[in-house]
Amino acid sequence: MARPISPFPFPPFPCAISPCPRLPLTSEKGISVLLELLLTAAVGMAMGQTMDLLWGRFYTGEEVLVALYRCAACRAPIAPVYALPFAAGILWAEGACPQCGEALPARSVILPSASAVLFLVAYAAFDGNVGAALAGGFFATIFLTLAFTDLETGLLPNRIVYPGILIAVALCWAWPSTSVLAIFAGGGVAVLIAAAILLLSRFFGPEAFGLGDVKMIVLMGFVLGVPAVIIAVFIGTIAAGLGAGILLLTRLRTRSDYIPHGPFLALGAVIALFLAA
Ligand SMILES: [Zn+2]
Repeated sequence: MARPISPFPFPPFPCAISPCPRLPLTSEKGISVLLELLLTAAVGMAMGQTMDLLWGRFYTGEEVLVALYRCAACRAPIAPVYALPFAAGILWAEGACPQCGEALPARSVILPSASAVLFLVAYAAFDGNVGAALAGGFFATIFLTLAFTDLETGLLPNRIVYPGILIAVALCWAWPSTSVLAIFAGGGVAVLIAAAILLLSRFFGPEAFGLGDVKMIVLMGFVLGVPAVIIAVFIGTIAAGLGAGILLLTRLRTRSDYIPHGPFLALGAVIALFLAA
């Protein structure tokens, strides 16, 4: 069939290139990408919300099998609507618990939104591979949660790190960007790096680097593999140095204050995870 003559300097519609690059969102591929983006973001938001609802149980000494609660202060059993992300932030008058008046923590809003964003970034980083995007988003959200636990309580809970390592080992075959061998090498290298930092930190006082940080680096090793775990610890260490420098210069912290490493390690881990992809 003869092609109609177009007055415009680009190919006539329907264009000769198939699928047409000018109309990505009306093509079948475009719709499936849109659905995948929505699914990925929804899974991310649900995971962030779940981490926030389970928050108290991450700490040893807290019972794991208790009824869900929205307010950590009074632990009133949750109305089903508050299991939804942002419901308490929208429905609670002035963001305070109707039972006891305790304010909803900012973390309860940030975790579900930031997790959704991390899952979307993972989707982009892994080039639209949904399986890898879900795995990448999952571990990025784990690292984000650890950043929050360290900021809030100075702890990197075993109840997040140990299952995280097990899941990372179980999913070692699933990454398109790395191999099973590289993942296990990453775990080994991480143990060595953590031991070396722990040894060095003995010169800077016992509080400088904790066992929680060691376990978190091991988790990073089994998620990232080599060489990404080395890049992650490098970025984390530089960021921690810069962060500590800024806090000291602005006198927000003094030399004797505890400065958590978790958030900086998490930053390095997430950057390396997405860069490696
Ligand atoms: Zn309450």
